[in-house]
Amino acid sequence: AMGRRPVVGGNWKCNPDSVSKLDDLIKNINACDTSRCDVYVCPSTLHVPYVVPKIKNKALVTPQDCNPKGCGAFTGSMAVAQMKDLKMKQVMIGHSERRGEFGIFKMDDDATLAAKLKCVLDAGMSCVYCIGEPKEVREKGLSATLALMDVQLKQVYSMLDPAKVVLAYEPVWAIGTGLTATPEDAQATHKGIRDLIAKNASPAVAAAIRIQYGGSANAKNAPELSAQPDIDGFLVGGASLKPEFVDIVKAIS
Ligand code: PEP
Repeated sequence: AMGRRPVVGGNWKCNPDSVSKLDDLIKNINACDTSRCDVYVCPSTLHVPYVVPKIKNKALVTPQDCNPKGCGAFTGSMAVAQMKDLKMKQVMIGHSERRGEFGIFKMDDDATLAAKLKCVLDAGMSCVYCIGEPKEVREKGLSATLALMDVQLKQVYSMLDPAKVVLAYEPVWAIGTGLTATPEDAQATHKGIRDLIAKNASPAVAAAIRIQYGGSANAKNAPELSAQPDIDGFLVGGASLKPEFVDIVKAIS
């Protein structure tokens, strides 16, 4: 919206359960028209090297996390240098399932995420940076939600280069629940986030940076949500495991 190039990402999370099921999912990605919309896909770590050479359009294979340090004695983690070497150009960080809103994998606090973002940008890669509020905060209203977004963004405002960073605003209560923010609520939050960026980074950064909506986005709700002036595309979980993903890209490009 508003002159920014739309961007749609598919987060496959920890799916599918076998390599043999990947080909159909990869077909969905290759069926997306990437001429008017940026597309990316986040396969599970183990599947990334399988997926990379099979992507035939401009979709970016985007790992779901990286570590905040680099290579070294960090068992179980992945470094951006390794991703770059495997021809990846983008990393997603800060997904709510890694921030720990669901009580598992409580690994990513805001300071750690800022360190991760610095690693990604220092490597010359781009980043999908996820933010979003849990239900208890949403229930307190828009200003409580934006106060939390300010906390989640505070340590990265200075790193929000619109050419390198896409923000994914994902209300936690809408992720995987079938509940979607109404277009009006999502727009109000996106606008509020943009205003925070204008104040704490700059008006130029706020005008140029893309903010995706995430949370039960599907082919049906995509047209109305993406018509909102401050919504620049979607981060899609559940629907990215279906052919419907192609229709979401189509709906906004
Ligand atoms: C997500 O986890 O990033 C997401 C938006 O999931 P879903 O579309 O399934 O709500």
